[in-house]
Amino acid sequence: MSVTRSVPLSSPWLDEREEELVLEVLRSGRLSLGPTIDRFEEMLAERVGAPFAAAVSSGTAGLHLLCRIAGFGPGDEVITSPLSFVASANCFIFEGATPVFADVDSETWNVDPDAVEAAITDRTRGIVAVDMFGFPCELDRLREICDRRGLTLIEDAAEALGAEYRGQPVGSHGPSAVYGFYPNKQMTTGEGGVVTTHSEDEWRLLRSLRNQGRSYEGGAWFHHVRLGFNYRWTDIQAAIGIGQLEKLDRILELRLAAAERYSALLSDIGQVSTPHPDDADHRRSWFVYVVALDEGVDRGRVMAELSARGIATAEYVPCVHLQPYMQERYGFRVGLCPVAEAISARTLALPFHARLEEDDQVYVAEALRQAIC
Ligand SMILES: *Cc1c(COP(=O)(O)O)cnc(C)c1O
Repeated sequence: MSVTRSVPLSSPWLDEREEELVLEVLRSGRLSLGPTIDRFEEMLAERVGAPFAAAVSSGTAGLHLLCRIAGFGPGDEVITSPLSFVASANCFIFEGATPVFADVDSETWNVDPDAVEAAITDRTRGIVAVDMFGFPCELDRLREICDRRGLTLIEDAAEALGAEYRGQPVGSHGPSAVYGFYPNKQMTTGEGGVVTTHSEDEWRLLRSLRNQGRSYEGGAWFHHVRLGFNYRWTDIQAAIGIGQLEKLDRILELRLAAAERYSALLSDIGQVSTPHPDDADHRRSWFVYVVALDEGVDRGRVMAELSARGIATAEYVPCVHLQPYMQERYGFRVGLCPVAEAISARTLALPFHARLEEDDQVYVAEALRQAIC
């Protein structure tokens, strides 16, 4: 069969508005530590209902800074989800802390608070909770556990910009949260990330740590008050970010509409389950559209058949604890997190982005139907 179409897994939505904003920055000559970053941070903080935001060079950098501020270090254990991107664990491994994986809930695919509680030891210092695939984690229960046990809660919301928990945006609830702007995320700036916080002291510290430990209060350029990093973002990226934030509501609406179309198109295909629906407490921000194939369906064959029709898919996501370096460093093995492992073996991300056309979705659904039957 000849390939008649090409349907990519994701695609950013950038237009003349971002071009115009980037040009303004280029012409201003203020390419880093400039006013465009300040403006972006104010807009983003307002959008997610957090008092403060600090932009950084990536989501991973933001998570790392929060782990540094939390004081995680050698001998400490930090609990996170095995069904996530490696950055959720790497961020504290950078500081010398040891990863502990608590299994996920079979429906929401987010870390299960009971499993978290069971994983706590005398050495546990914190939890990095992930809003996986844009579905908000069990924030109130996790926060209660952290308050009771004296742990730091960090929210990896890199996939969840625009998600709502109990009627309020993720980011507004208190725990410091991190968002990422890699090109497959809801909004992109090429690379980039932002940390939202409800603490002005933490915000000042973030601004210092991202800028080589320079004093937030100002002072000479070569005056460093702490060991810091170069996790600075650029005003060029901030300009793109402002353009993206201006259209974020539209992006989220279009992504929701595309997800609803998929769910309708796939509803009568046996052996394919569509993503967990929203409920009163959880409103997903659509990051990816990931289906679960029934056990026994050969995922590799399905992917190959879709690929032959020009349709990109991906295994979203392999378990973090089973990555080669994790197995080598810590001896983690299959069986550590059976729920996450079973999900991870069956899941498949379909092409998904804000401007995905309905006829492409019909084409994907038909190809999936044929590949499965
Ligand atoms: C994208 C992502 C990050 C951070 O990504 P960067 O590429 O460093 O910006 C962190 N955690 C999760 C769960 C992600 O999906």
